[in-house]
Amino acid sequence: MKKVLVSACLMGKKVRYDGNALPQESQAFQRLTQLADIVTFCPEVAGGLPTPRPPAEINVADGDLVIAGKGKVISVNAIDVTHQFALGAQKTLDLCRQQNIEIAVLTESSPSCGSSLIYSGEFAGRKVPGHGVTTALLRQHGIKVFSQFTVEDALAELEL
Ligand code: SF4
Repeated sequence: MKKVLVSACLMGKKVRYDGNALPQESQAFQRLTQLADIVTFCPEVAGGLPTPRPPAEINVADGDLVIAGKGKVISVNAIDVTHQFALGAQKTLDLCRQQNIEIAVLTESSPSCGSSLIYSGEFAGRKVPGHGVTTALLRQHGIKVFSQFTVEDALAELEL
């Protein structure tokens, strides 16, 4: 059974910024949990942030730029949490390497876990194309990242 990294909040863990989870009930997601060996992880908690926590956005709406030191993650109350986000991303990559994980299903639009859309950095509720800090680092190292909306693609990648 292949291992798949899944965002802890998608697996029902109450680790989101607002103290809630984001459990999934789609058939594809249920199939994934039955046919893969799920490894649950939350990069923001691993990076040292509390739950609940103020929402944060990437100021340049680009996780790759944060990793390159050219962007920051700022909370809605103007605290720079770039270090915690980068640390969480690194810990996620370390986990994937230790456990030979090549596929991840992460929460769309999160500044850590988003894989096709993230918030613009203006705290205006506007999403733009881009991926979060953890997704960016994982993709830079060849790990394929999907979201709760593209689980079928993850299953196809796993040949399940
Ligand atoms: Fe969920 Fe990822 Fe946010 Fe953690 S960092 S709460 S796993 S979306």
